[in-house]
Amino acid sequence: MNPATAAAQAGPRIGGLTPFTSIDYPGRLSAVVYVQGCPWRCVYCHNQHLQARAAPAGPAWPQVRAWLARRRGLLDAVVFSGGEPTLDAALPRALDEVRAVGFAAGLHSAGMYPRRLRAVLPHADWVGLDVKAPLDDEALHERITGVSGAASSVRQSLCALIDSGVSHELRTTAHPDLLDDAALLRLAGGLAQQGVRNYALQLARPVEGSGRWAHDYPKPATLARMQGLFAGFTLRAG
Ligand code: SF4
Repeated sequence: MNPATAAAQAGPRIGGLTPFTSIDYPGRLSAVVYVQGCPWRCVYCHNQHLQARAAPAGPAWPQVRAWLARRRGLLDAVVFSGGEPTLDAALPRALDEVRAVGFAAGLHSAGMYPRRLRAVLPHADWVGLDVKAPLDDEALHERITGVSGAASSVRQSLCALIDSGVSHELRTTAHPDLLDDAALLRLAGGLAQQGVRNYALQLARPVEGSGRWAHDYPKPATLARMQGLFAGFTLRAG
């Protein structure tokens, strides 16, 4: 057996598991499998323990797969999140395996690997794609993610996702120090122009101990204008 086939059979490198959630795949009760590894370093990342690909991994995929098989009838879907799941060559096979058990196959991605995302889309039933800044703002993408070229990758990933016809949601983490109201409106306007219909704004959690954001963010008028751009608009507290 060649190494790539062996790796695919071993399954994705898993950093953790959420056994039950109602918020990670819209309208479905799901389990979330966190794939270990992400090359970006977003300033507000709450999954820093998943960034290093070589970090000690969680349960092995065969164990998780067996556990999922026992959850038939209790869950609707399995979502692969991260980290960045598309960096793992075993992802397409794992998506197929959860479908074969009868679950919908969901995927969270930050869109950093457009070609890999395009290849994996036929294996997914729903995708949540992160967009971290206005699509045309390479400098702000770099400030948030810590890498250059991020905006270009996300634009290509968005095109692949829209072309695929796979059900999806675009999502943005809103942080007042990184995305002011004008930037949020530019971001949302750019997505609407691309034909995005479902969008979620996720308010970043305030720094530990600081309580809620001290100011009015985003402004109600900004939220109302954003809402008007999409058929489906969701606001999530951090
Ligand atoms: S892309 Fe996601 S997992 Fe990676 S650093 Fe950014 S927030 Fe964290």
